Amino acid sequence: MKRKKHGPADIWCPYCGRKAELRSASYVYGEKSIKPERHLYVCSGYPAYCDAYVGAHEHNLMPLGTMADGELRHLRIEAHYALDAVWKRGYMTRKGAYVWLANKMNLREKDMHIGLFSYYCCQESIRICRELLVEREKKGGDYCRKTEHRTRHCAPAGIR
Ligand SMILES: [Zn+2]
Repeated sequence: MKRKKHGPADIWCPYCGRKAELRSASYVYGEKSIKPERHLYVCSGYPAYCDAYVGAHEHNLMPLGTMADGELRHLRIEAHYALDAVWKRGYMTRKGAYVWLANKMNLREKDMHIGLFSYYCCQESIRICRELLVEREKKGGDYCRKTEHRTRHCAPAGIR
């Protein structure tokens, strides 16, 4: 049996040790918040002493990852972009890309959540994904020249 599934959870800020509080998203994003019904765990030192927070699950209010400061939030977004590019460009399926990256990162599949990544894991996964993209695009280029067929990456430019 798992522990209780319904929040709010007791979590403490990993940056300053203060307790986090469950708040409406508008507390951080302001009145223009796209989804004011969403909740965040926000460090009780926010905004004067600390800027760490993390989103809460819409239904059970459990935290969606670990609390992150501005820099880590930015890195996690970048890591998502890099991984999305791998499957959106058709090099793998979405599921395949997650399994592939988990293996490259030495993670078990169930730990493969960018929302839990540290700075280091974000930087590593961005590097690994970009490496694959560069390599595949190089191959795409060769294919393109040898066969004189348009490949995915050069197709949008139109007819050769
Ligand atoms: Zn804090």
